[in-house]
Amino acid sequence: MPQQSLIIKHYYKATLVNNVTNCRLILTTSYVTRCEGVSLTLRRKHSLGNQQIPVSKQKRVALGNPEINSLTLSQKRDILALDTDNNTLKFPTIWLRDNCQCPACFQRHSQSRTIDWGKFDFGVKPLSAKLVESELTIEWSDNHRSNFTLDWLIERSFTEEKRKLFRNKIYRFERTTWGADEFGKYLKKFDYKSVLNEDSTLLNWLESLTKYGVAIVTNVPAKNNSNKILTERVAFTRRTHYGEEFTVIAKDGTTNVAYLSSTLPLHTDLPYYHYAPGANLLHCLVQSQGKGGESQLADGFHVGNYLKLHEPESYKILTKTLVDWSDVGHENGDHFHSLHQAPVLCEDEFGDLVRVNFSQPQRDSHFNAPLEQVILWYEAVGLFTKLLYSPENNVTFKLAEGDILTFDNLRLVHGRSAYADTTGRERLLIGCYLDWDEIYSRIRVLRKQLKRSKEMNIGQ
Ligand SMILES: [Zn+2]
Repeated sequence: MPQQSLIIKHYYKATLVNNVTNCRLILTTSYVTRCEGVSLTLRRKHSLGNQQIPVSKQKRVALGNPEINSLTLSQKRDILALDTDNNTLKFPTIWLRDNCQCPACFQRHSQSRTIDWGKFDFGVKPLSAKLVESELTIEWSDNHRSNFTLDWLIERSFTEEKRKLFRNKIYRFERTTWGADEFGKYLKKFDYKSVLNEDSTLLNWLESLTKYGVAIVTNVPAKNNSNKILTERVAFTRRTHYGEEFTVIAKDGTTNVAYLSSTLPLHTDLPYYHYAPGANLLHCLVQSQGKGGESQLADGFHVGNYLKLHEPESYKILTKTLVDWSDVGHENGDHFHSLHQAPVLCEDEFGDLVRVNFSQPQRDSHFNAPLEQVILWYEAVGLFTKLLYSPENNVTFKLAEGDILTFDNLRLVHGRSAYADTTGRERLLIGCYLDWDEIYSRIRVLRKQLKRSKEMNIGQ
């Protein structure tokens, strides 16, 4: 194709191929652009300057929007339907009015709705609706007009498929649960310096932590603040009544069993918090020599899902019985008494596991459950415990000095085998926490930023 310049005025989806560099650029929104030396594939109607060109016979863009064949309003005018070749996209009209994108209703700068609900007409109805090219225009009974682009509407379609996609890709991310056999395959390691310096490595680490519930950051400098620097690369350290950081070292007269050198049984941290810390980061500065001091992990969601499938009665008891979790003690002179009632296995509204609470030392002797349920609960939790400790589910490994073990504290249970310090070498770990709200937020921001820079690089 000879060198040429094209001005694309508007389109639905277009793939531009630069003939010189052979780079591809996928354009997904309507705007005017100038392209030099390109061939192009356009999905739908478009204009090229003033000159109309036919829809390309080349391969169509997979991301292309569906053709809209007709637009209909329900008799009550509460549903607007857009018919495509193989689907009908329906939108509640009250939702459309509520989500009007005009500057009076929506502030683009803050990405916030500014409609005053104190003055909003909740009985508002469309007087007319029309679709011109890729834009839907609605005239409303409250003397307002709204315009929506087709892209924007399709992105927010109420179909089950679209809602599921949003839930699994943007709201929460898909998880892969594991037993002992798969652990080695899923445990990924990330270089500390690279995580601090490269956004792509930071994203890879956080995605791995989210998906598998565990990842190791390696080559960490033996400094007390290395862990905190890592959390601040994501967001900020989650403070608890043990402070911003906690030191795991054998010490006499401790108020927490983690600070003994004896075996630390499997547990989740701080189940007595309503807002339990999301992810645990344990920096190994000094490891014990010889036997002992090994870390133990098991995937509580994996075991929970096994129970759901094979022992549904036990699963039900563990998801329905409220347990009293507590922590009473003092740290740096400050006394605390934390309490939280929650089941061992917590589900969301979809029946998916979202949190495991498990800590023998931090379970109160008050047990606010009906008498007959208590006995059944012991049977069920006995089975759950046995499975967590079984070789099929339980992994043991020894952290190296300079490792930060990062794991999902709402999903994995962790423990440690007993160890003995040798003279001059006291096992030392510094731990801190991050909340999932902050990790998810960082992942979403990074994904957007990296996608954007990737697209920009394509054209260069
Ligand atoms: Zn408006």
